[in-house]
Amino acid sequence: MGHNLRMAERVIPIVDQRSKVLQPQVPAAATHTLATGQLYDTRARPLRDLRISVTDRCNFRCGYCMPKEVFGKEYRYLSHDDLLRFEEITRLARLFMAHGVHKIRLTGGEPLLRKHLERLVEQLAELRTTEGRVPDLTLTTNGSLLARKARALKDAGLQRVTVSLDSLDDAVFRRMNDVDFPVAEVLAGIEAAQAAGLAHIKVNMVVKRGTNDHEIPRMARHFRGTGITLRFIEYMDVGATNGWRMDQVVPSAEVIARLRAELPLVPLAPSALGETAQRWGWAGADGRHDPGLGEVGVISSVTQAFCGDCNRARLSMEGRLYLCLFATQGWDLRSLLRGAASDAQISAAIANIWQGRSDRYSELRASLPADTGTGGRRIEMSYIGG
Ligand code: SF4
Repeated sequence: MGHNLRMAERVIPIVDQRSKVLQPQVPAAATHTLATGQLYDTRARPLRDLRISVTDRCNFRCGYCMPKEVFGKEYRYLSHDDLLRFEEITRLARLFMAHGVHKIRLTGGEPLLRKHLERLVEQLAELRTTEGRVPDLTLTTNGSLLARKARALKDAGLQRVTVSLDSLDDAVFRRMNDVDFPVAEVLAGIEAAQAAGLAHIKVNMVVKRGTNDHEIPRMARHFRGTGITLRFIEYMDVGATNGWRMDQVVPSAEVIARLRAELPLVPLAPSALGETAQRWGWAGADGRHDPGLGEVGVISSVTQAFCGDCNRARLSMEGRLYLCLFATQGWDLRSLLRGAASDAQISAAIANIWQGRSDRYSELRASLPADTGTGGRRIEMSYIGG
């Protein structure tokens, strides 16, 4: 699709994409005693999963996340001093884990662009859940640097990895990520992750009608039987810059129908509370799931909202806490970290924020006016991680 046509399609002002910032309230009483224990929000959803964005930079320019027209040469990226230091991230992660978090996902931008990331992984791997277990440490990457980093990340304590890959065809891949990066190098990164012993490797494919949806069967056949789980993600109206349109969404039901027209698939039960993907297993000759062939997943934020058990909090690279991927406001925890706040005070502020949470954007999407009208802009996915 020509550059001019793409520009005509989107009206994107170059402004600070970062949304409204709130100062967290620290309850007066919260001075010394560290409040711990599982937190629940106003919909009884437990805080279990913390996504930590470690950089606002990326070496790709995927149109659905970081369009080049906005995130170009003029874009003001954060300075290194703006970013949370590894010790600050670890301190916050420890406080979140005391409130029930057991899974930590490192994201970005592209997290592997953050220098010495394995040092942060080492620090996080030292932490323990309220049950005394090692946290489930995982990372989402575009795979461009994975071949070089997989071994060091595994040795540092990373357990799993999810790689974003929207096509096996270089031309289509380029249309999705707007840079000249060969698919082969991402595949080499996935192989390096397998060789390093990273478990449960997943590949995420964002499906955009008219751009890469014709690749669905080819991607499925490529990863079937490899032990890698491919997930098809519905193209989402994240942020305020990707020019999203509903007619570019391929509903997950259609993705599954297309796959079943080629290969036998059977539905599988969720493997964990709050899981974002619906699981489908490749069936063997007996019509039942053949674990050797593996499974695929579909993530259907647009057509089948899953807010009901959403247990995810998101931390931006400069220490702002967001309660939803489609949030329009965040809480500045860095001011507490870099001020004189004690662990007890920060912990109480986190509790205050989560216990007041009621987010369910995907459930409300269809009933909301185009502009959320809440005076805020939806935060960019590249800022808080997918
Ligand atoms: S829309 Fe928000 S509340 Fe709903 S599942 Fe996504 S992140 Fe969770």
